[in-house]
Amino acid sequence: MIVMKFGGTSLGSAVRMLAAARIVKGRLRRKPVVVVSAAGDTTDRLEKLCEAAIASRNWEKQLEGVFDFHGALLDKLGINKDLLVKEKRYLRQTVQRIAKRGKCSEANRVRVLAHGERCCAKVFSGALASLGVASSAHDSFKLGMVTDRRFPEAKVLPEAFGLLRSSISRLCGVPVITGFLGATKGGELTTLGRGGSDVSASVIGAALGAKEIEIWTDVPGVMTADPRVVPGAWPVRKLSFGEAAELAYFGARVLHPKAIAPAIEKSIPVRVLNTFDPQDRGTVIVPRSRETGIVAKAIAHKKGITAVIVNSLRMLEAHGFLARVFEIFRKYSISVDMITTSEVSISLTVDDTGNLELAAGELAEFASVSVMHRRAIVCVVGEGMKRVRAMAGRIFSCLGREDINVEMISQGASEINVSFLVHERSAKAAVRALHRDFFGK
Ligand code: ASP
Ligand code: MG
Repeated sequence: MIVMKFGGTSLGSAVRMLAAARIVKGRLRRKPVVVVSAAGDTTDRLEKLCEAAIASRNWEKQLEGVFDFHGALLDKLGINKDLLVKEKRYLRQTVQRIAKRGKCSEANRVRVLAHGERCCAKVFSGALASLGVASSAHDSFKLGMVTDRRFPEAKVLPEAFGLLRSSISRLCGVPVITGFLGATKGGELTTLGRGGSDVSASVIGAALGAKEIEIWTDVPGVMTADPRVVPGAWPVRKLSFGEAAELAYFGARVLHPKAIAPAIEKSIPVRVLNTFDPQDRGTVIVPRSRETGIVAKAIAHKKGITAVIVNSLRMLEAHGFLARVFEIFRKYSISVDMITTSEVSISLTVDDTGNLELAAGELAEFASVSVMHRRAIVCVVGEGMKRVRAMAGRIFSCLGREDINVEMISQGASEINVSFLVHERSAKAAVRALHRDFFGK
């Protein structure tokens, strides 16, 4: 069997829903179990609805907006309007309660957000039925998706796997299961964090020992580079989990490594596919890549990076200096991404400058600190690079030919990426030059 997860944009209209339902119909032989996100931007709308109810402002209109959106889906798919009566009543009551109290408990917020996935599962199951596919909609939390009670990003508990396996294997037809949602052992509803349907799909796939988990999106998979920078970029066919995790930092619009970990632990491949081009193979993420000869898989980059250089002679022959510096970053919850050190200086990068001034102030008590804004990290990712000599040489001579100034370099002993820092204005040229060098035209 396989798990097929559809994201919001793949289900954002009746046309998209039908396209997705046809894709499922085309795979019946592989015994699909479907996991759905909320349709379109429903979750965003529901979050706004909570805020509006708290402020007692305009929430009735927003509530009707959510109802109308699903109503239109039912209408266009030719499904009975009464399908969602219970869900609508429940949402209205919850929102009324929030408005009356002028505040919203975590439990009530989750109840509101759950409306999206619950409606979507029912509507999508209806869309399958309209194509003659036997199917039924299910709430994941009734099938055993048990979590801790950390709101709004609960963690799935180990016992969920056994519970899900026994309940889902008893279902007939194509089960359509709500992503994103879980419940505590005590039955309190929880969410797995924004974008959490990928987690749901990977947990369900792992529980069932699926052959493959398909994540259906609206992009062609993971690209060799950002297509806005390199118009000729193409989808990477296969990535190791490690490679995918590196790329996720660069916002490669794929999967969060955390989300696919349960599948990878069970050695289940996770494939990213495009609902607009269902015949394409997309990108498959596997636990380990055994390919040889392929040196680089992708060139990624991220702008809006700030570099901090901490200089101090006290660092000479001192121990505990790094700990002291990083303690300050910890204190201000600043996450540090790239680090290089010399005898008397530490250079590091951050992408959130919220508390940076405070941290820099404290560092300045024992070191000289300079901050450089508008930088970009560029990174070449590929497992094969570990086995290739003179990889760094190749990268930096390529950049040298383009006259690009490299400000920091990071490559670990067993790393599958070489990262470096450039000024933002050089990022495009760097990515293009490297793409040309590693991938040709
Ligand atoms: N609907 C939820 C969200 O938008 C979960 C998901 O899409 O995966 O965050
Ligand atoms: Mg979503």
